[in-house]
Amino acid sequence: MTSILGIGECMVELSQEDGALWRRGFAGDVLNTLWYARARMGDDDTIGFYSAVGDDAASGEMRDFITEAGIDTTPLQTLPNGVPGLYMIHLDGFERSFSYWRSTSAARQMMTNIDALWSAVSKPDFVYFSGISIAILSPEHREAMLDGIRAHMKEGAQLVFDPNIRPRLWENDAVMRDTITKAAGVADIVLPSFDDERDTFGDKTPDETAARYLAGGARKVIVKNGEEPTLMATPDLQTFVDVPPVSNVVDTTAAGDSFAGGYLSELAASGDDVAAVRAGQATAATCISFKGALAPFSEIK
Ligand code: ADP
Repeated sequence: MTSILGIGECMVELSQEDGALWRRGFAGDVLNTLWYARARMGDDDTIGFYSAVGDDAASGEMRDFITEAGIDTTPLQTLPNGVPGLYMIHLDGFERSFSYWRSTSAARQMMTNIDALWSAVSKPDFVYFSGISIAILSPEHREAMLDGIRAHMKEGAQLVFDPNIRPRLWENDAVMRDTITKAAGVADIVLPSFDDERDTFGDKTPDETAARYLAGGARKVIVKNGEEPTLMATPDLQTFVDVPPVSNVVDTTAAGDSFAGGYLSELAASGDDVAAVRAGQATAATCISFKGALAPFSEIK
C-alpha cells in the first residue's frame, strides 16, 4: 500500500472538432502523471491531487472528472469566486496551435492557505510536482512552498520534481533557472528532459544535466531524451537504459508526464530504480501511441 500526492494545475481543455464545434476535456501536466500512475497502481494505493479550483460549474465538472479517474480530491482547495484556467487547441490540418487563458486561474492561488498544503504532504510516500506547478505561483508562494515542504513530509517520504521547463510561464529566464535549480535541490528525485535542459542551461550532454542537478543537492536524476537512452544517475552510479522502439508514434503530447507516472508507480511498488525507468518508458510508449495526453486506462500496463 503506497500513496502519491501530485501538486499542480488542471485546466479546461477545448479541442476543435469541426469549425465552431469544440470538445471539452480537462488536462494539466501533473494530473496527466497521476492518471498514468493511477492506471498502473492497485486499489489499495492512494493517489491525491493538491490544487485549487473555483466554485463554478466548470470547476465542479473538473472535480468530478478527477474523482472518476480514481484520484482523491480531498486535498483540492475550493476558492470562492475562483475559475479554472482554460486553453483551446486549434487544428489547421495536422498542425495544432494553442491559446491560453490561465493568468487568473484559481490554481495560481493554491498556496494561499499554505497550512492546507502542509497537511496534504504530511502523509504520502511520494510527493510530485513540476516546473509548471511553481511557475504559476507568486514569488512569495514559491518561496514558502520550497522552503517548507520537506519539513512537512513524513520521515522517508520522497519528493519528486520534473522541471518541465516552459519559459513563457516565467517572469524572466534568470528567475526560471534559479527557481528550477532550487526546487531540484530540495527534491530527492529529478526527472528532466534533455532538450529543455540543453536549451535552458546549455548542457551539452545528458551526463552534464545529471551532474548539474546532483551537484545542486538532488539524490537521483533520471534524464529523459526522447527515443535516445534514458540516463539514471546517483552520486555513485550512472546507467543508460535503452528506449524500446515504438512502431506507431501518433502524438507525443504528455510523453514526459506519462513517463513520470509509470516511473513513480513502479518505484512505489518495487523500489527498483531500473525497473522504474523501464516502466516509465513503457508507459510513455503507450501514451505516444494514442492521440491526446491521456491514453485509455485499459491500455496502460
Ligand atoms: P518530454 O515529453 O518531457 O519532452 P521526452 O521527449 O524526452 O520527454 O520523452 C519522454 C519519454 O517518452 C522518453 O524517455 C521515452 O521513454 C518516451 N519517448 C518519447 N519519444 C519517443 C519515441 N519517438 N520513441 C519511443 N519512446 C519515446
